[in-house]
Amino acid sequence: MTKKISARWTDVELEAAVDAYLSMREMENNGRPFKKTEMGLKLREGALSARSKSAIELRMQNISSVLVELGQNRIKGYVPAKNVGANVSKKIQEMLNDKGIFKVPGEGATASNTSIGQELEASTADNLAAPLGIKHPKHSNSTVITFFRDDKVREWVLMHANGTCEGCGKVGPFLGVDGRPFLEVHHVHPLAMAGSDRIENVAALCPNCHRRCHLAADKKAFTESLYVRVKRLKEECLDLVVD
Ligand SMILES: [Zn+2]
Ligand SMILES: [Zn+2]
Repeated sequence: MTKKISARWTDVELEAAVDAYLSMREMENNGRPFKKTEMGLKLREGALSARSKSAIELRMQNISSVLVELGQNRIKGYVPAKNVGANVSKKIQEMLNDKGIFKVPGEGATASNTSIGQELEASTADNLAAPLGIKHPKHSNSTVITFFRDDKVREWVLMHANGTCEGCGKVGPFLGVDGRPFLEVHHVHPLAMAGSDRIENVAALCPNCHRRCHLAADKKAFTESLYVRVKRLKEECLDLVVD
């Protein structure tokens, strides 16, 4: 296969960038951590294999620019850059429209004249202003992989914990519908990373400890501590996974 490196992005390439941008924006809106570099790498392994890291970065900044013109919020890490042909800009806007993202009435009228310095200032002020939100949220067609789990494993782990969180040792914060102190089950080595659905990889945690595993600054250290605290758990090694 020969790679044709052309200055002009194809629609497929452009759409891949727009899709990646929107999924990162959604994560940012939901306060979920994401890494621009990881997403960039994924893109370069896939649809954007003919594009350089800096070209992708610039495209993302172009998308920010179009979003700002539409009065929409953008990813903070991508400062709008307008050095994009009117054609590409129009195409990005059309793709956004197709995905249910339209101009917010009365918003963003002056965005095209905004310099980068002003833009940065504006974004700090934006943090204080109440967000517009979306009146009729559209849903996207992203593929969600659902893993089949063994209810017996879940039940066993919860019975075994007997209402006490295996992360902090406290009793679940309220009674669940089954009358037991509420705990959640957590796959210590994520299913999405080929973790197993076995009792050696499943912990019963209170909602706080569970969120801590997924979202905390110290999530790695906290996860490590689970392996020490809960003797049943066994670290699963990725190297052992065979297709
Ligand atoms: Zn806990
Ligand atoms: Zn979890």
